[in-house]
Amino acid sequence: MRGLLPKGVFATMLSLSLGLFVDAAPAPEARKTLQIYFVDVEGGQSTLFVTPEGRSLLIDTGWPGNNGRDADRIAAAAKDAGIKKIDFVLITHYHDDHVGGAPQLAAKIPVGTFIDHGENRETNDEGAKRVFNAYQQLLATGKYKHITAKPGEVLPVTGMQVRVVSADGELIERPLPGAGKQNASCENATKPPVDTTENPRSLGTLITFGKLRILDLGDLTGDKEMELMCPINKIGVVDIYVVSHHGSQPSGTLAMVHAIAPRVAIIDNGAKKGGSPEAWDVIEKSPGLESLWQLHYSEDGGSKHNVAAPFLANLEGPDTGNYLKVTAAADGSFEVFNSRTHETKKYAAR
Ligand SMILES: [Zn+2]
Repeated sequence: MRGLLPKGVFATMLSLSLGLFVDAAPAPEARKTLQIYFVDVEGGQSTLFVTPEGRSLLIDTGWPGNNGRDADRIAAAAKDAGIKKIDFVLITHYHDDHVGGAPQLAAKIPVGTFIDHGENRETNDEGAKRVFNAYQQLLATGKYKHITAKPGEVLPVTGMQVRVVSADGELIERPLPGAGKQNASCENATKPPVDTTENPRSLGTLITFGKLRILDLGDLTGDKEMELMCPINKIGVVDIYVVSHHGSQPSGTLAMVHAIAPRVAIIDNGAKKGGSPEAWDVIEKSPGLESLWQLHYSEDGGSKHNVAAPFLANLEGPDTGNYLKVTAAADGSFEVFNSRTHETKKYAAR
């Protein structure tokens, strides 16, 4: 029999059969997929990425207070993903809905490394100063590694590529590989005024897993979007767009959204925060959009600017903390699970 099979095939059969003996029990954790939890932190951000090997990156920590509500929800997502530690926590910027939850999170679950854009630049704002100082106290314990990220860098997260595209108001200067086309959406676009808050300082990343591309720019504002996207699109197209600034203006300009042309966009809005009709319209009209998902029904959006119920993690009424979860394969196919409906929608590879 051996003589009839090419050597490689025989070796594969042998190792497969040996593998069956070695790992007799089925291994449900032997995943090949990337999992992404869009944790409901009520209009803040907290997005947990877990690679097939169980390495993890959390982008933002939600709000402070609320008896540790956001840390509890992040820990529940980590538990669901089968991890006991978060390897990297990336703080996009120093606003309470992003970094505010960091001390409670660190008290709840072990963290390896914090990544941020450096100093707080909104020193005239008491809220930003307060959450930045609390975060600095956490770093000063010496328990964590710390990285100050710069545009263009690839962060040391294994199992997926995390490339920094914006940090501390600086942006990548050259187009990413495969990007660099003239952006037709820039025509007639007017650049929004310069924003002086922490938002335009957001640490933004393009995350690549096999063929899948995911863009997360935190609360990056329209002025920076235009620099990044006009006249040349430096990002290219993406599969999944973590909607900037919870779907609030002045972020999510048409010049950016229609050029990155996401297949799926997910808004981390709250019932009363983000999900503005103007930002929502831009996404809905984006070329190639297959689905828009929202963490919450937006009161601001009303009957005309909210997605249909199956695409909403949380409906009107009392807070139930439902999340959305993306499971993605390296070929670029993925699915979105709604923890409220327990329904899953599949998206085939391009
Ligand atoms: Zn925010």
